Amino acid sequence: MANFKPFRATKQMKDLMAGHFREVDEASRDPGRKVAWCTSVGPAELLLSLGYTVYYPENHGALLGASRKANDFIPLANALGYSPDICSYLTSDIGSYLAKDTPLTKAYGLPGVPRPDVLVYNTNQCRDVQDWFSFYSREFGVPVVGVNSPTKIGEVTQPLVDGMVAQYKALISPLETIAGTRFDTDRFREVLALSAKTTRLWKACLFAGRHRPSPLTFFDATVLMGPAVVLRGTPGPVAFYRELLAELEERAAAGVGAVEGERHRFYWDGMPVWGKLRELSAFFQELHTAVVVSTYCNSWIFEAFEEADRGADPFEAMARAYLELFIVRSDAVKEEVIGRLAREFSVDGIVYHDAKTCPCNSNTRYGLPQRLKEKSGLPYVVFYGDLNDLRCFSEEQTRTNIEAFVEQLGG
Ligand code: SF4
Repeated sequence: MANFKPFRATKQMKDLMAGHFREVDEASRDPGRKVAWCTSVGPAELLLSLGYTVYYPENHGALLGASRKANDFIPLANALGYSPDICSYLTSDIGSYLAKDTPLTKAYGLPGVPRPDVLVYNTNQCRDVQDWFSFYSREFGVPVVGVNSPTKIGEVTQPLVDGMVAQYKALISPLETIAGTRFDTDRFREVLALSAKTTRLWKACLFAGRHRPSPLTFFDATVLMGPAVVLRGTPGPVAFYRELLAELEERAAAGVGAVEGERHRFYWDGMPVWGKLRELSAFFQELHTAVVVSTYCNSWIFEAFEEADRGADPFEAMARAYLELFIVRSDAVKEEVIGRLAREFSVDGIVYHDAKTCPCNSNTRYGLPQRLKEKSGLPYVVFYGDLNDLRCFSEEQTRTNIEAFVEQLGG
């Protein structure tokens, strides 16, 4: 029987998220304010410094998955020519727009998704985001601008940083025109400093998972990361993550584990299955297995923001932060990162989620798990599913595979 231990700080998180959605809704109805839709690892800091209120469609995609509405909406986007094989955040989000139905209404009382004044993407995660935002540009008749990032990056070299800096700077003029504001370097530095604070605290919270037993799991973290995703660059998340960190340290000191009788510790690579978070969390509890670290939740640790605090050029700091992102790196770098985190968190197995509609965040298709096993000796299991499209996920088969894997480990 699963024994979930809610965090006290959750209340603060819910208030923060509700405040965020109210804020974007108000901004979208105020002619004096501007709303930018931004990809989750897009140049949010630049937008905030120019006075935009920022909304993240991927967060809406995750909400559609978690509320199990995604599968009602995906076919509507498919009928418009958006394939069932492409990002199911995209298809569920566009389908929800077409259906004029959003979980934001029930959860936060919003009449609908806040209307954008501009759409801003960064292709560091995938090309789907550009197509996704282009759809809304046509629908709302508003500009779509963005930056195109290199992919499969090994070392983050100066020429790569310079290339991105040039693209970010080219966004300033059109964004100033739409916002009716002037770019201010000091304000940009302030926003980056707030993002750096959030990132530092979020990392400390995640790294509390190194304790044995771990005071939190991947399933907790996927929910607790909300403010780091949608409110970085603002003061709100800083106080929340301080409180959460104190609570995690308290639990670690008292030996309170998120999983009763923790016997195994796993690394999770790939996307969450949003519609099955609770079931999977309970399932791992039954197996006395704590999923203590993940690629996904670590992706919102942007250490290079700190460089701006130490006096570096703020555009370079931002460019580095978004070029160092896990998803945009070469397989050699990914192997190194997963191997290092697996050691730091003392894991004894890796679970890879091959998400049907998110090839960029599925690291199972070009031999990475096998190579990493050869190097590190760490056993692994792959399961096939999806972030939002539950037609691609068999809970029964996944349970059988993972149970067999745990048995092999002697669980
Ligand atoms: S990275 Fe994956 S989940 Fe995210 S937008 Fe791209 S395809 Fe969708």
